[in-house]
Amino acid sequence: MSEDRFIHLAGELVPFDDAKVHVFSPAVRFAVHLFEGIRAYWNADTEELYVFRLAEHLDRLRAGMKVMRYEAIPSAAELEAVVLDTIRANKHKGDIGIRLSAYVLGDGFMDARGPIGVMCGTEPGRTTALEDRKTRAMVTAWRRIDDTAMPGRLKSAANYQNGRLGLMEARDAGYDEAIFLTPDGKVAEGAGACLFMIRGGVPVTPPATAGILESVTRATMIQSFTERFEAPVVERAIDRTELYMAEELFFCGSTYEVHPIVEVDSITVAEGAVGPQTAAMWTHYEGLIRGTLPDHAEWRTPVWGTQARDAAAE
Ligand code: PMP
Repeated sequence: MSEDRFIHLAGELVPFDDAKVHVFSPAVRFAVHLFEGIRAYWNADTEELYVFRLAEHLDRLRAGMKVMRYEAIPSAAELEAVVLDTIRANKHKGDIGIRLSAYVLGDGFMDARGPIGVMCGTEPGRTTALEDRKTRAMVTAWRRIDDTAMPGRLKSAANYQNGRLGLMEARDAGYDEAIFLTPDGKVAEGAGACLFMIRGGVPVTPPATAGILESVTRATMIQSFTERFEAPVVERAIDRTELYMAEELFFCGSTYEVHPIVEVDSITVAEGAVGPQTAAMWTHYEGLIRGTLPDHAEWRTPVWGTQARDAAAE
């Protein structure tokens, strides 16, 4: 990996190759590990990099630490400083992905509550046209974890064993992505993204109680459908057959952004093209994340600002 790439680890910026965690840690042995996948977008007009909805990502991470009973939860201000310091140390002036993790170190058992480690690293962002993101999905036989067993609404690394099983099944069967059903057979979400359906012209998405991650992008979409398109989203249980009958389907998430689903279980969604509402939502979302739309400036945390830019130039 690049020698000039820095990871924020245990309060210090260290070279990428030196960012290590002990194999005996509960983080490794029992996946006592919560994380966030965040994106930041470069705006060429303002020459600024904006982290999208950082506060909401930090809220979810801190909620996860509370539920999983971590012994000392860093403040939102401390976590924000970790993220911004990492980006600035890596001198990013372009789209990036940001990984922020909080996990349990030491050599304790599965009930260990600390010591807590915090890590932040960055990677280049990727941008592809919506047309190139057309996705073929399969309903996996693996059911989405239920809140009575695992806290699916939190971004716990352990939950991704569930996602991994479904995703591998789908990929081995020649599909791009998996769609999970809840234990009682209603649509939940993808392995790493939430799902929206357009039926009868109405945007629909499964409720937050369907075992899904409490997604930041899902919340953005719900607000945007209402504010921008005056099309309130209906949060309700979705049956599997509705996926086959939908006018449009798309996945969304911080990393996936918007991915049109054009086929489910070898049945074509509508005509198999990118739907008009999906395309409109992507255009709107792109404006929000990059700040080319003025709406919701509070969702964009500027990385450089005048002071940070001057300091970096020194
Ligand atoms: N569901 C799952 C299982 C995910 O891993 C993700 C990606 N974090 C999402 C949904 C989308 O969440 P967000 O919009 O907060 O990135």
